[in-house]
Amino acid sequence: MTLLIAPITASTAEQLTADLERACQLGADIVELRLDYMPDLNPAALAAVGNTLPLLITPRRKEEGGASDATDAERCDRLVEFAPQAALCDTELATWETAAAVRHRIAEARAAVRGMDGQKLILSAHDFEKRPADFWRIVGRMNEIDACDVAKIVFQARHISETFEVFDLMHENAKPVIAIAMGEAGLITRILAKKFGAFATFASLEAGKESAPGQITLDAMKLLYRWDAMRPDTTVYGVIGNPVGHSMSPAIHNAAFSECDINGAYVPLLIEPTYEHFEDFLREALARPWFDLRGCSVTIPHKDNALRFTCECGGYVEPLAGRIGAVNTLTFEDGRILAHNTDYAGAMDALTDTLGCQRGDLHGNEVAVLGAGGAARGVVAGLRDSGCKVTIYNRTPERATRLAEEFGCTAAPLAERVRPGTQIVVNTTSLGMHPNVDDTPLPADRLQTDMTVFDTVYNPIETRLLREARALGCRTVDGVAMFVHQAAAQFERWTGQSAPHALMRQVVLARLTGADPSAQR
Ligand code: NAP
Repeated sequence: MTLLIAPITASTAEQLTADLERACQLGADIVELRLDYMPDLNPAALAAVGNTLPLLITPRRKEEGGASDATDAERCDRLVEFAPQAALCDTELATWETAAAVRHRIAEARAAVRGMDGQKLILSAHDFEKRPADFWRIVGRMNEIDACDVAKIVFQARHISETFEVFDLMHENAKPVIAIAMGEAGLITRILAKKFGAFATFASLEAGKESAPGQITLDAMKLLYRWDAMRPDTTVYGVIGNPVGHSMSPAIHNAAFSECDINGAYVPLLIEPTYEHFEDFLREALARPWFDLRGCSVTIPHKDNALRFTCECGGYVEPLAGRIGAVNTLTFEDGRILAHNTDYAGAMDALTDTLGCQRGDLHGNEVAVLGAGGAARGVVAGLRDSGCKVTIYNRTPERATRLAEEFGCTAAPLAERVRPGTQIVVNTTSLGMHPNVDDTPLPADRLQTDMTVFDTVYNPIETRLLREARALGCRTVDGVAMFVHQAAAQFERWTGQSAPHALMRQVVLARLTGADPSAQR
């Protein structure tokens, strides 16, 4: 079992009592009492708190990210003093290595703690700047020390491919391991620690109470990433992008996995915006069959990288995705890579659902597409395949002209009034998107009552464009509908099951309206 540890960095007894209660309520398996933050705490005062959770005691020294500037001997004394109330104790490998007298005191503390899962002493090493050059030597040294029950190594990840050594370590080390790549790029080492059999990982009580960069909350770990359901055979999915921190894809897919009893974990995959980084990550992941990577959503700026990578690996590219020039869905199946685009279907399904028609019924409709970027490509391809007459309006007219030539449409500057007789308006620009919610790509005086207005922007749910269109009596389609449809198509491709549409929409709405506690990372 992998332990979920809540670090407590309280500096007063009242705060400590409140934090211990909170850790219990949130379902932590154990709390790490950071003795370095409470130099005045004494064992009697701790006993009086009435804590019920197992304790890991850590007097972390300043050189490794702690708050203690006490000597090694003083910090060891603290360990020995508090050990009878603790299940586990932690000290730095560097402290262990200083002197025989120090080792003797640490061994005393080890003998006095109760133990957890048969382990008592964690020896740890931290680098808050980078992956240590002697990563494997440090681990080797910890493995050699008999008194070290758990080897803990933590470093700041500069990019996501540095996480693979961490996973290798979790997967095959001779001793139990806590291994963490800090920072957003290393987030997956925290979330997937249970799949790969780490001894423990850390999650904070709430945002703002992290003890290290990149730590997420217990709520996010349990409610968003389904910690309790994770097993060694859990398959891995994720969203590749940059940025990905605020992506709603983990919430929507994990909720769908949970609802349909799929043994999968869906995580954010922050990949630097170059093809080399994209390729490196996927090659490393696919070289490890035990990593169990089964599918990825792909977002800005990697949709064309996903297409190129699939082609270079000799994978299958759905003709539609090739024509659009963008892949937003990768599936890894029996050693093959399959590339699809579900944005197209997402947009078309959102539109036809609202209109209560089939795609073919749109034949001959006059459509204004605002924008000529990545989202516009899928939308324009879908509308043209359905036989719509499309005019593309864009701030940069040359871009509109290029797209129009490719798909047999007309082009015009964004500032122009939409053509008379326009029946459907689709906004694919980012105008109106949070935080610039007062922007609109089309002023209200250019809208007409009988138009259907579809905004692909989904944050906010009701953009200014949609609000003004609704006020005029137009039919409206929001970006959430498209987002849910494209995600549902991904879910169905990966699992072979029907997607729980209503639930998926509910999840997105809850996150957009701030009603989801796990959204607090
Ligand atoms: P993109 O490739 O960067 O294209 C952005 C488009 O917006 C371009 O046409 C750009 O015009 C235009 N634009 C940006 N700022 C503008 C401004 N200040 N004034 C006028 N036009 C401006 O981005 P994308 O991938 O197409 O995404 C665009 C939007 O689509 C995003 O905001 C996103 O919310 C939405 N989207 C939604 C979904 C969904 O599932 N609902 C999926 C994908 C995308 P220029 O060519 O002149 O730069």
